[in-house]
Amino acid sequence: MIFAMQTTTVRDLRSREQKRRDAVADTRPRTTVSFYRYVRIADPQAFRDKLYAKWSALDCMGRIYVASEGINAQMNVPKMYWDQFDAWVQNQPELKGVPYKIAVEEGQIPSFFKLTIKVRDKIVADGLDDDTFDVTNTGEYLTAAQMNEYVEDPNAVVFDMRNNYEAEVGHFEGAITPDDFVTFRDELKRTPELLKEHKDKKVAIYCTGGIRCEKASAWLKHNGFKDVKHLKGGIIDYAHQVKQQGLKNKFRGKNFVFDERLGERIGDEVISNCHLCKETKSDSHHHCKNQICHALFIGCDQCVEKRGGYCSWKCAQVDKIPQKYKKPLARWYNQYVRKRQPFTKTKVKVS
Ligand SMILES: [Zn+2]
Ligand SMILES: [Zn+2]
Repeated sequence: MIFAMQTTTVRDLRSREQKRRDAVADTRPRTTVSFYRYVRIADPQAFRDKLYAKWSALDCMGRIYVASEGINAQMNVPKMYWDQFDAWVQNQPELKGVPYKIAVEEGQIPSFFKLTIKVRDKIVADGLDDDTFDVTNTGEYLTAAQMNEYVEDPNAVVFDMRNNYEAEVGHFEGAITPDDFVTFRDELKRTPELLKEHKDKKVAIYCTGGIRCEKASAWLKHNGFKDVKHLKGGIIDYAHQVKQQGLKNKFRGKNFVFDERLGERIGDEVISNCHLCKETKSDSHHHCKNQICHALFIGCDQCVEKRGGYCSWKCAQVDKIPQKYKKPLARWYNQYVRKRQPFTKTKVKVS
C-alpha cells in the first residue's frame, strides 16, 4: 500500500499557519521546479535522509516522494542557491541528467511552505500491480509541436490523464477529459474500457508533468492499445516549448499544479465557472477555510469574499464550534462524508 510510515529523522514541528507565515516572510526569490525519475533506489530511507539534509540546508521547500522505484519531486529553491542545488543533484548517480521542469510563473505566495520528503511504496499512487504488466514498455514521447499535430488530427485521440478538477480549469482543445474521476487510480482502472473504441487509433495522453503518463502508457499498451504516445514533460514543458519555439498554443485555460499556487496560467482564456454562484467565469481554486472540510473549489472573487473563504454557509457555521470538538468531528467527517463530492462541476467533456 502507499501509506508507508514516514520515519523521518528530522521533523518540522511548526503549525501550518506558522509555516505559512514564515514562508511568506521569506521574500527571497525562488524557482519552482519539478522532476521525476524511475530509477532503482537501493535504500529509499537513506536516500531520503540525504536529500533532506542537503535540501533543508539550502532552504528548499516542497513535497518529494522517494520509493525503491524512483523519485517524484515538486519543490522550490531560493534563486541564490540554484547553482549549488543543481550541481549537487546532477552529482547524485540516481539523478544525473534528470530533466527539470521549471514553473511558467511564480505566484504571489511561495509555491510551498515547508520541506516534506516521504518514503512510499510507489512514487505515484496508481493502484496498479507492477508485476502484472511490463512497466518499461512505455509509449514514445511527443514534443509540443507533435502534440499540436495530434490535436489537429481528426483521426487521433487526445486523452487527459488527470483528475476532473484539473481538467475542469484547463485542457487541450478537443481532448477527452475525465468527468467523474477524483483519483488517478480510479481513472487508470477504467481508462481501457472508456477508450476501447479507439484501440486501433493514434492515442496521445498527457498530464501535468509527464510522470503519470509513464505508467499509463505502458498500462494502455498492455491493454491492447496499439499506438499510444505521451506528452514529454507534460503541460508544464509544453508551455515552455510553445513559448520558446513560437508554436500555436492548443492548451485552453489553466494548468492545475499541486502546490500553493494551485495553477499556472497558460493562455488568457478562463473556461470554468465559479462553483458557488455557478455564473461568473473563474478558474481560481481555493481550499475551504473550514479545516475539517478543506474541499477544493473554484470561486470567483466576489463569492469568496462574501462567503469568507468557506465553500458553503454550513462550513462557516461549523468552523465556529470550540476547538476541542473539531477533532472528533473531523474523524467522523473523514470516515463518512469526505468521499462524496460537494460540487457539481462545470461540464468540460469535449470542446
Ligand atoms: Zn461566484
Ligand atoms: Zn467547506
